[in-house]
Amino acid sequence: MVPRKVSVVVPVYNEEANLPRLLPRLLPVLAGLSRPYEVVFADDGSRDGSLEILKQAARDNPGHVKVVELVRNAGQHMAILAGFTATDGEYVLTLDADLQNPPEEIPKLVLAMDEGHDVVGTIRQDRRDTFFRRIASRLVNRTTAAITGMRLNDYGCMLRGYHRDVVDVMSASDEASTFIPALAQQYARRPIEIPVAHAERTAGESKYSLYKLVRLNFDLMTGFSVVPLQLFTLFGFVTALSGFGFGVFLLVRRLVGGAEAEGVFTLFALAFVVMGVLMAGIGIVGEYVGRIYQQVRGRPRFLIRKVWGA
Ligand code: UDP
Ligand code: MG
Repeated sequence: MVPRKVSVVVPVYNEEANLPRLLPRLLPVLAGLSRPYEVVFADDGSRDGSLEILKQAARDNPGHVKVVELVRNAGQHMAILAGFTATDGEYVLTLDADLQNPPEEIPKLVLAMDEGHDVVGTIRQDRRDTFFRRIASRLVNRTTAAITGMRLNDYGCMLRGYHRDVVDVMSASDEASTFIPALAQQYARRPIEIPVAHAERTAGESKYSLYKLVRLNFDLMTGFSVVPLQLFTLFGFVTALSGFGFGVFLLVRRLVGGAEAEGVFTLFALAFVVMGVLMAGIGIVGEYVGRIYQQVRGRPRFLIRKVWGA
């Protein structure tokens, strides 16, 4: 049997400080697999010297390194999808450029895929992120699992492997915003999660601000389920019922005890709670409407200027 070709897709956004360290670690690992391989870097509109470094790497490693140059920043997940278009391996792996996922773990993923798993997820052992970041991830992992009903322990770790069949359906899915590990999970026939090591970012800073992180998590939660909308509806029913009950209670009290104007502040408090929930609900509805709008406009999700080293 001919060994299956491995393609590794690496999204890159302003990583000039990391690339010179990534390349000498990644390429030997792949060469050591003793099977055909390629690395596809997706330059996500970097403004630093990343693209130059990558183009040089493509020249130095003909046949093994390709660079997909995006016209402008499209975000990590879109960059990966853009990278997918230039791959032809039967196994497609994704890896971050910042060396937080050690490339030395790649053979483990390839092994799992050789065993017939079409989606290989990973769980970061001994995570090296800030305390705040870890708590946030935990919260997101739990809520997402509850909302989408998908059993995945660690959505955030981007060192993952996908069989070509899964990559093809993901590419054809045409979603205006998406979250690749969750998308793959939808199409997986035999998924597995394996533990991998995690390291601190070696250089540069995280490309996710708090705002971008929140937006990404909205993508994850609204992109894969309508449970937030249903919860909101449920809350509406419960509030309406309790309001009705409260009204009956007030009426009875009035009949028994006569007119009174006390408790008006309690009503205020209740009114504010309900108003807050209404506003949040409008926001949730807005999230879905906004996504539908993006989708119907049907603009391209990413624009590729050129593929180097092809
Ligand atoms: N990235 C990208 N486009 C973006 C943001 C990030 O291609 O708009 C890349 C980035 O270069 C890195 C990976 O996605 O290779 C993960 O980004 P980062 O390490 O900043 O995320 P974190 O590890 O903090 O979640
Ligand atoms: Mg990182």
